[in-house]
Amino acid sequence: MREQLVFLLQLQTSDVRVRELDAAATQLPAKLDPLRRDLAKLQGMLDVERGKLTENESWRKGQQDMLDRERELLRSAQGKFQASKNSREWSAASREVDNKKKSISDREVELKKVSESSSSTQGVLSSRDADVEALRTQLTESEAAMADQLAELQGKLADAKVARDAARGQVEKSWLKIYDSLVGKRGYAVAPVIKGVCQGCHMALPPQLNNILARMQSIETCPRCGRLIYRKELLDLPADGAAPPTDTPAS
Ligand SMILES: [Zn+2]
Repeated sequence: MREQLVFLLQLQTSDVRVRELDAAATQLPAKLDPLRRDLAKLQGMLDVERGKLTENESWRKGQQDMLDRERELLRSAQGKFQASKNSREWSAASREVDNKKKSISDREVELKKVSESSSSTQGVLSSRDADVEALRTQLTESEAAMADQLAELQGKLADAKVARDAARGQVEKSWLKIYDSLVGKRGYAVAPVIKGVCQGCHMALPPQLNNILARMQSIETCPRCGRLIYRKELLDLPADGAAPPTDTPAS
């Protein structure tokens, strides 16, 4: 019985290790999520700025076209002015020339403002481009470093699964069934007893049961939590937290 207990404990240790490594391998990629979020946010701001710039640029082009037309109209008004035959024609043409000049100068002022705002937006854009690029490089490097870490973890996980399967192979089928059902119900199946207290549920065992455990002739279950129990001092394995012994089990 002692041997089966040792095998069950080895199985439990290797099961814990598989579970821990599995959780670590699952959680690792999520560690870069904050960096990914920062990058997406910055990229979003950049897209907004770029959209504004495009809008400005198309407005500026429209204004430039109108300016060109107005300059043509000014030329034709100046032609009329020169060709005016009397004072009425002359003053009408003169007013037209003045109006065109005024509207051209107004539009030029507007255009200058828009051009200035475009170039300041351009400045913001290039500094943000640099930020995004730096962050992207950081993410790429972190992902590369993480890929190595993840590969290492997955290698360890594969090894741990091999060790776990080997440990399962040592346990008798009937005990495996009980073990698996206890893991399903209680999280883990084998609990030590220290000073007469089950460490699985912290119940003090009946003294008689504690005496039976001392004989090490049978595997008993805790009356409260149902876990398979053993007296810790009689079976002190380097099991807790340490790597599962895969070869030459102590029996
Ligand atoms: Zn218990």
